[in-house]
Amino acid sequence: MAETSIPVRTCVGCRRRAPVTDLLRVVVSSGILVPDPRRRLPGRGASVHPTPGCLLAAERRRAFNRALRLPGGSQLEAGPLREHVHGSSSEGAGTRTRTGSSTEVEQGGGAALTTSGSSTSDRHSAGPHVDRTQVG
Ligand SMILES: [Zn+2]
Repeated sequence: MAETSIPVRTCVGCRRRAPVTDLLRVVVSSGILVPDPRRRLPGRGASVHPTPGCLLAAERRRAFNRALRLPGGSQLEAGPLREHVHGSSSEGAGTRTRTGSSTEVEQGGGAALTTSGSSTSDRHSAGPHVDRTQVG
């Protein structure tokens, strides 16, 4: 039982603690956020879930600047990181995100845009049918 302890980091996007195997390590190289999935690159790294939602949340609150101990005004290029995150999922392949000129949609909680597939909304179909209609 030597390799069972996996380090836990806090995602800079959703601020939840998760094992490093679930998170993507990100380092900065000359102002560019570089994904480091193998966690091999030197220097200070930030951990984030490799999901568009957590990445967006981290970018909005400048969590990378804070986690990487960068000056607050420094602009970070997140292009390679976005490509890595969006590339892991099958959707959103050529979506360019312009900073500042796109339509701003206010989403609390950093929910990603789930287009395909149904969510867990129809949970009424599971389990025994309980009729709560009170007659009388
Ligand atoms: Zn997260």
